[in-house]
Amino acid sequence: MKPAAFRYHAPKTIDEAVALLAEVAPEDGRVLAGGQSLVPTMAFRLAKPGHLVDINNVAGLDRLTVKDGKLCIGACVRHAAFAKPVCEGPLGKLLANVMHHIAHFPIRNRGTFCGSLANADPASEWCLVMTALDGEMVARSSSGTRTIAAREFFQGIMTTALREDEILIEARLPLLPADTRCGFYEYSRRAGDFAMAASVGVYRLDGGKIVEPRVAVGGVEPNPRRVAEAERALAGAEPGDTAFRAAADAAMHAVEAMEDAITSAEFRRDLVLAVTRRALERAEKS
Ligand SMILES: Cc1cc2nc3c(=O)[nH]c(=O)nc-3n(C[C@H](O)[C@H](O)[C@H](O)COP(=O)(O)OP(=O)(O)OC[C@H]3O[C@@H](n4cnc5c(N)ncnc54)[C@H](O)[C@@H]3O)c2cc1C
Repeated sequence: MKPAAFRYHAPKTIDEAVALLAEVAPEDGRVLAGGQSLVPTMAFRLAKPGHLVDINNVAGLDRLTVKDGKLCIGACVRHAAFAKPVCEGPLGKLLANVMHHIAHFPIRNRGTFCGSLANADPASEWCLVMTALDGEMVARSSSGTRTIAAREFFQGIMTTALREDEILIEARLPLLPADTRCGFYEYSRRAGDFAMAASVGVYRLDGGKIVEPRVAVGGVEPNPRRVAEAERALAGAEPGDTAFRAAADAAMHAVEAMEDAITSAEFRRDLVLAVTRRALERAEKS
């Protein structure tokens, strides 16, 4: 199938882009970034936007910078940009590891980090990482700029706090101290498929005991989230099998797993047990 008719706009500046979006949003005007989610849904006519505001020619949106202890990821930075560490320390390594689980080579070369966040698929790896590390999103419209915390940004399946006239211009992640241990694990049927469950585990050690634990799961509930019960099971414990199994068990009991045509809620809960434990084991070896 071919997409329904739409008008294409190619602004060159961010001011032009937000002004255009404000004008066309009431006629289902949409931002076009990498097009790797939007264009297939248009081809199937699941989406029929009247206008596309292509942000690929907007100056400055392809920047990846480190500022004030944060990695700043512009709206047009592609998944492939993370293939090698983009910053010093554990954060760069974690992002490089995660990137290799996203889709396939051609999609990674075109799809964008921020496009994934705006699309908010429950199984998106970048949405999970932003949630685990309490990242923030910078949204811009013709009426100004606002910063939204990850825990407020993701609001359900493919639903975010972005207004229809807002462009997500940047995502920010805190740089992690050098001694931070990070692990990621996802389960999918084939390489490149969306995850049926995924987890990020992060912690540091103080006197041999776990401090500042973070455990987040994705692909399980309508949006990724940190699991406080699992983090409590880790805090103050010695890293190792006993603590990791306790945290994974707590995560499994805490989630309200989604069900779909091929995956029962029960199986997905079992996957949470496995992916959480493995993410923590990988963190220990990082
Ligand atoms: C076969 C296949 C496998 C895939 N596997 C995975 C996977 O394993 N993991 C994964 O996470 N993703 C996967 N994807 C999706 C891919 O990562 C997309 O690149 C990503 O979801 C969307 O990014 P994009 O830049 O292509 O956005 P687009 O397709 O251009 O846009 C997606 C949506 O977000 C909106 N949008 C995009 N950017 C912005 C912005 N800056 N501000 C406001 N709104 C914006 C658009 O209007 C649209 O509604 C897969 C896709 C395909 C086709």
